[in-house]
Amino acid sequence: MTEPAHRSAVTGAPRTGAARLTELIELSRSLGAPARDLVILAEGNTSVRTGPGRMLVKASGSSMAVADEHDFVEVQTEALVALLDDPAAGDQAVTDLYAEVERETGRRPSVEAFLHAACLEVEEVDTVGHTHPVDVNTILCSRHAELIATTTLFPDQVVVLGPHALFVPYIDPGIVLARTFRQRLADHVERHGRAPRIAYLANHGIFALGRSPSEVERITQMAVKVGRVLTGSLAAGGVQSLSTADVSRIDSRSDEAFRRRVLDRDQPPADTGHTPPDPGASA
Ligand SMILES: [Zn+2]
Repeated sequence: MTEPAHRSAVTGAPRTGAARLTELIELSRSLGAPARDLVILAEGNTSVRTGPGRMLVKASGSSMAVADEHDFVEVQTEALVALLDDPAAGDQAVTDLYAEVERETGRRPSVEAFLHAACLEVEEVDTVGHTHPVDVNTILCSRHAELIATTTLFPDQVVVLGPHALFVPYIDPGIVLARTFRQRLADHVERHGRAPRIAYLANHGIFALGRSPSEVERITQMAVKVGRVLTGSLAAGGVQSLSTADVSRIDSRSDEAFRRRVLDRDQPPADTGHTPPDPGASA
């Protein structure tokens, strides 16, 4: 059994709230870097699990590119999820909850905090990054939107994004979107036995569901690549996907499993080649 990702990869000790905040600031600034074209202005948001039923999430209105320790707020995910469970709760209940958080902390969570709470409700998810990448939204704002979630174009897509992505049709941001997103996420886990690594929201953007901040980085990078390759494939006359058999073979191949283990380490991978090291070989 692997260590929960909110434990240090080096010592196995639980990361402190301060360490988690530092990781989240670094991830936010990286995803917000203007040259990457993932977000502009105050778009996008990030979150990490800080303990059972708790998360740090980006505050409303702040910019990821220049995020600092004042741009995040710690909230009880359970309080947010309880509102989603209450069919009588509407957008006014959300406004009231946010006002309460603002009174207590001086900061208001992002409007998309409910989606982060839904992601972090899934046990294997530790860190979440939400962006509006131009190269992905090119597809998500086209008539081929769903194709990006249902088509596998090349093997590394399977390694990083997994064999099955989640797709959510367009719904205005708010509690209805959060409820639909959470239901589709639960259905996905039920059907496939594991969480998706990525959720595509039509006419909106992506959620990267990582087991660590570095995995959120890799998922986001790979989604951008998939968006660009898919756009090119459509322009080049049409998409030639990998077959379902190809995808499940790649998903289960031991050398791909090795690469995934290497990638799962929090450090940048020293070797992402196909050949696992031979434990019996002398140095
Ligand atoms: Zn968004």
